[in-house]
Amino acid sequence: MIWKLALHWQVFIGMIAGAAVALLAPDLAPAAATLGTIFMRLLRMVIVPLIFTSIVSGVAGIGDPRSLGRLGAKTLAYYLCTSLFAILVGLVLANGIRPGAQLHPPEGVVISPDQIERPGSLAEILIRMIPENPIQAASEGDILGLIFFALAFGLAIMFLPERGRTFLTEAFQTAFEAMMKLTGGLIRLAPLGVLGLIAGAISTMGFGVFAQVAKYMLTVALGLSFHFFVVLPALYFLLTRRSPVAHWRAMVAPMQLAFSTSSSSATLPVTMNTVERKAGVSNKVASFVLPLGATVNMDGTALYECAGVLFIAQALDVGLTVGQQAMVVLTALLASIGAAGIPSAGLVMIFIVLEAVNLSNPAAFALVGVMLAVDRPLDMFRTMVNVTSDTVGAAVIAQSEGETLRYDDS
Ligand code: ASP
Repeated sequence: MIWKLALHWQVFIGMIAGAAVALLAPDLAPAAATLGTIFMRLLRMVIVPLIFTSIVSGVAGIGDPRSLGRLGAKTLAYYLCTSLFAILVGLVLANGIRPGAQLHPPEGVVISPDQIERPGSLAEILIRMIPENPIQAASEGDILGLIFFALAFGLAIMFLPERGRTFLTEAFQTAFEAMMKLTGGLIRLAPLGVLGLIAGAISTMGFGVFAQVAKYMLTVALGLSFHFFVVLPALYFLLTRRSPVAHWRAMVAPMQLAFSTSSSSATLPVTMNTVERKAGVSNKVASFVLPLGATVNMDGTALYECAGVLFIAQALDVGLTVGQQAMVVLTALLASIGAAGIPSAGLVMIFIVLEAVNLSNPAAFALVGVMLAVDRPLDMFRTMVNVTSDTVGAAVIAQSEGETLRYDDS
């Protein structure tokens, strides 16, 4: 019986069924896609309270500002290093393969770049991290702003007198546990949700354009695969001295969900649940490292920004100097940090990187339109890489804090 199988097998069957519906019975795809929409809404429903309660209880529960500083420094160091690694992979591949050289601009199914909302400048993004009104930040899905406020609030609780501190820490801890229970319930719906998401994604893909930019798509896919199968496992092994196989096997559920939803934020509830239950990472580490990671640590996106801009430059026959390529590396890193954990956010941030190397012109924007037309499969893949890197970070940091990882891949 399907419902007796382990959840990741059920989700896998959901993925295949979704693809089958889209390809064999396209008339049913819109109805199936509704299942996906409902599932996405349920996941989104828990994101804001989950992030808020987890960070506040995580920070307040650490108890000592120095431990918080240590944990924060390790987390940021890991996130910056892995994203930088990913960008370098993208840089080497895009220079080696030159996916944009001799590109014949595809005709027809190009999405007008005017339809894409532009991000603000990098300075604006950094300033906007400080929310003028935390409630508005939460209601508008401004996750960076929400995280900033939650960190500050958790820190303030740490400095309260004993009685108030214990009361608030326990209250937020209990609220967080309730959110995790809710998440546990939602996860059971994942097979159906994934069926709908995959059916919807495949039925709206414009396969016609794929062939024309195949080299670009292959370059990005190759880079993401290298990061996913080589760089991250090697890093995991070096930092924990354990076999990465157990970790990768235990993390199948968040990987599948990241792939199906193209959203690190929507996957976050499942990522937290799985990292705690299947890798034995403490709540203290998971509740601090993972919400931050889902918003800030995007290796796949970082790789994509870099490869994407080089692709555009090559297609326009603009040679980028070494200095300009270094600028691409730096801005790709910042753009990946600023990108929200939602579908196609990475593509939108590419405007920032283009600007940094003076490629803000209509021809470049038209190519962004082409990239948008084929973005969905790449987004699925890069989101999976983003989330996997967060889980590796949680495991590595937990072990460095003296915890013993205990894997359960049932
Ligand atoms: N969809 C990605 C994520 O949520 C962001 C991106 O578009 O690169 O992680």
